Amino acid sequence: MCPSENFDVVVVGGGSAGIAAAVSAAELGSHTLLLERGKFLGGNVAHAFVHTICGLYCAANEGHALVLNPGMPSRLASGLRAAGVAGEAERAGRVYVLPIEPPRYAAFLAELCERTPGLEVRTESELIKVEHTETSERRWALRVRNRECGVSGIAAGWLVDSSGDANAAALAGASVEAAAPEEIQLPSFIFRMGGVGRSECVGFAKLRLTHVVAGAVAHGDLPPGCESVLVRPGLEPDEVYVTLNMPRPIDIPYALLDEERLASLAARAREDAERIVEFLSRTRPAFEKSRISAWPERIGVRETRRVLGLREIRGDDVLSGRSDPDEIARSSWPVELWHDHRRAHFEYPEGACSIPLGSLVSRSHPYLGMAGRCLSASHQALGALRVIGTALATGEAIGVAAALAANAGSPLDAIAADDVRHHILERADREIAL
Ligand SMILES: Cc1cc2nc3c(=O)[nH]c(=O)nc-3n(C[C@H](O)[C@H](O)[C@H](O)COP(=O)(O)OP(=O)(O)OC[C@H]3O[C@@H](n4cnc5c(N)ncnc54)[C@H](O)[C@@H]3O)c2cc1C
Repeated sequence: MCPSENFDVVVVGGGSAGIAAAVSAAELGSHTLLLERGKFLGGNVAHAFVHTICGLYCAANEGHALVLNPGMPSRLASGLRAAGVAGEAERAGRVYVLPIEPPRYAAFLAELCERTPGLEVRTESELIKVEHTETSERRWALRVRNRECGVSGIAAGWLVDSSGDANAAALAGASVEAAAPEEIQLPSFIFRMGGVGRSECVGFAKLRLTHVVAGAVAHGDLPPGCESVLVRPGLEPDEVYVTLNMPRPIDIPYALLDEERLASLAARAREDAERIVEFLSRTRPAFEKSRISAWPERIGVRETRRVLGLREIRGDDVLSGRSDPDEIARSSWPVELWHDHRRAHFEYPEGACSIPLGSLVSRSHPYLGMAGRCLSASHQALGALRVIGTALATGEAIGVAAALAANAGSPLDAIAADDVRHHILERADREIAL
């Protein structure tokens, strides 16, 4: 067993939110540990091949791709562009998105963490137990299962849950909530293909491809479950990412936190993906020489469980573009809900809304913060707030707040949003050049 160790801040989950939190806490002088259960950093990007950053820019009616949040989202977008990990910002109707190359995103983030003094990263390390005590300065006693070391003990003063699934909060017995299984957003299965001609994967041809696959299901050439497919060119010339939007299963209980159920959904999606690829290579000239070049490590899960915070962001806060004096970040993405696997339902906000610091601080445990997909928001609001640009901004804010709390020896609810904003702006010009 590895010996027990001490950290000021432990961040659980090495997705976009967790990396922003861990780098920010360490940049402000906290001795920080980032835990990731998977092989790579990057969360849904690395493990599920999400390949565009949404929520990074102001609405497209501002004229051009203007980064919404200063600090980590803006610093990272410039660093990714300069390193060739991201392409040019692309306009998609009323919004802009930034295309990225998933494996290179994961490698970029790993290097960023490695170059950050005071930050230690452990991959293949899953948080499995949390105990909380008021008597010691290191309030959190954590158990972590690492592939090489086995189970070890870690003590921490401040804990940040960026697990996407509120796993740390649930283990700690903090207040959490989740939408009902019949309401929760549907997952998708994204895989990569190589050897694909570009002609059918851009502009209207790309949309036609979606219709062709849906038509094949309608005519019985492909089985039901394959009807919702989106193809998007990767940054490499002959590479595409194919997103298979999965229907709500009717024959197995729908439990996206259950690893066995996820594995059976993944196996089913993989069979469907193989049928779609066979159909495309047989019927579409651009796919004649195509092959599947990579499967994802995991299914892409949009929504599971969230932590209940001091403040909960509601759907009308997002849609009315509500401002709040405790703002530490802003959100401009529409409410995008995948209740029907054939199409998302979009509702556009009147303007960018505030994300208050209280939505990143646990209501029941004041030394526990959260960011990204498990911040405190209603099901409807999460439809907008779950995207990567917002995960980076909320991750940075709670990382800064945790470092300020660690310096002062105080709970997170004693930190002022004004101080968090000040520290974000102070570091906003620092380049991330790798
Ligand atoms: C199919 C799909 C398509 C999407 N498309 C887009 C898009 O185009 N653009 C966009 O911006 N967003 C998109 N999203 C949303 C976006 O990917 C996520 O919401 C975003 O990744 C949130 O980042 P996060 O850091 O909060 O969580 P995640 O990326 O989910 O990262 C959480 C990490 O925590 C780790 N973890 C969990 N439990 C533990 C534990 N106990 N111990 C240690 N580690 C743990 C996980 O392994 C994971 O790596 C999409 C999502 C899906 C599913």
